[in-house]
Amino acid sequence: MSMNMQGRPSAPAAASADAAPTVTGNRALMLEEPLIFEIGSTDVTGVDLEDAPAHASRLGGLTREAAIGLPGLAEGEAVRHYTRLSRQNYGIDLGFFPLGSCTMKHNPRLNEKMARLPGFADVHPLQPQDSVQGALELIHSLAEWLKTLTNMPAVAMTPKAGAHGELCGMLAIRAAHEAKGDARAVVLVPESAHGTNPATAAFCGYSVESIPANARGRVDTDALLARLGPDVAAVMITNPNTCGLFEPDLKRIADAVNAAGAYVYCDGANFNAIVGRVRPGDLGVDAMHINLHKTFSTPHGGGGPGSGPVVFSEALAPFAPLPFVVEQEGRFHLVEEESASAEDHGQSFGRLSAFHGQMGMFVRALAYILSHGADGLRQVSEDAVLNANYLLRSLDDLMTAPFGGTGPCMHEALFDDSFLKDTGLTTIDMAKALIDEGFHPMTMYFPLVVHGAMLIEPTETESKARLDQFITAMRAIATAATNGEGERFATAPHYAPRSRLDETRAARQPVLSWQG
Ligand SMILES: *Cc1c(COP(=O)(O)O)cnc(C)c1O
Repeated sequence: MSMNMQGRPSAPAAASADAAPTVTGNRALMLEEPLIFEIGSTDVTGVDLEDAPAHASRLGGLTREAAIGLPGLAEGEAVRHYTRLSRQNYGIDLGFFPLGSCTMKHNPRLNEKMARLPGFADVHPLQPQDSVQGALELIHSLAEWLKTLTNMPAVAMTPKAGAHGELCGMLAIRAAHEAKGDARAVVLVPESAHGTNPATAAFCGYSVESIPANARGRVDTDALLARLGPDVAAVMITNPNTCGLFEPDLKRIADAVNAAGAYVYCDGANFNAIVGRVRPGDLGVDAMHINLHKTFSTPHGGGGPGSGPVVFSEALAPFAPLPFVVEQEGRFHLVEEESASAEDHGQSFGRLSAFHGQMGMFVRALAYILSHGADGLRQVSEDAVLNANYLLRSLDDLMTAPFGGTGPCMHEALFDDSFLKDTGLTTIDMAKALIDEGFHPMTMYFPLVVHGAMLIEPTETESKARLDQFITAMRAIATAATNGEGERFATAPHYAPRSRLDETRAARQPVLSWQG
């Protein structure tokens, strides 16, 4: 049997040079894990079935000719395989996860408990509305909170992630222009915007034009205002932007964009930095998505689906998608059908997803909001900003912070690779060295406005002790790198189950099926 050993260091016990390699390849209780196709055998099943009685095949000419080669494992071995794999995974419940622009914060267990209440967990989206009044009320309450926190008059709850929210907002903007018979074709996107912004605009059929950043890491307002004109449908602007900086000109930009007949889409994924302190509605925003899986602590990715509600201004509210919840005389009602009258949501761009959105995430987000209260939410953003500035100022003497001179950052600290000049090392070597220290790396090479970016977002849920430990590790790595002692980083990680992989090749030529 040949195991998938790609990227594995030849001597497994790199931790201690004189330790003998083990026979199994396991290290203490960390077990080496082959692919599921490499364990068990294709002619084994976990259950014994009697031979089927004689019968005439009804498959016509479609009978399978060759074995399909499914892995065969007894239940116990299948459970162990996946449990072992899960131990090699890294998550927010294991340790610090400072991925910039991702807000990897603790997911309070109270939220999980609420989401598992049978009245929320066991409802079905096709149940009669009379039997799910509590669930509809919950969606309605969360919607009210989101409108209050943003000072926006309407919200669409159905988008299922941040990027999906961008699609929702841009479809509403397109519908609003179409309703006026205005065929604008261009969307302006600053360089400091998140990569999903230009992708969304292009997906909606717009041609995307980039607006440069200025030397302070903010959008070049003059360049943006100069480009406004009758062909511009919208500006998509991320605030706080992906350099972790507040865009102080947003109100001025929004007023000029609206005056030029276009709309302002604000990417609000970084709302964690300003929740309770800044209301995007006061800044003239027309549409903005909120990532419940960032600001409101619902699990990300593998931990569960995301949720990206979009708040809308008065101008765009009529074009928001269906369905939505309304309250009438104490009862909650789901508006699912398009109406004939324009005043009465007749201009909705239609449906964005099959049902009402991510119910489990709504429950968690509302539990989070109610357990924090208005003052607690304000403290969330203040602590997130404090933690990021603590990191920025604890590292900026050794590492280069390109906009560190422009004042405090918001919720994330941005460094570039100029301090690595002449060391032969790059951003990726720093990230891999961090893995050896037991930390998930920061976001690398993003944003693109600086060279070799390292974007660190600590969030408010990390303790000072944890931040100090991270700072100590970063300082040790940065010092070794700049003192010419960083040679070992070029081949790091040394202690991970797999060492340096050819990530470019893995992305460009992925091997997605097992050839035994
Ligand atoms: C995370 C993020 C997104 C995308 O959100 P998803 O839920 O991953 O689709 C968009 N913009 C910014 C600024 C983000 O940080």
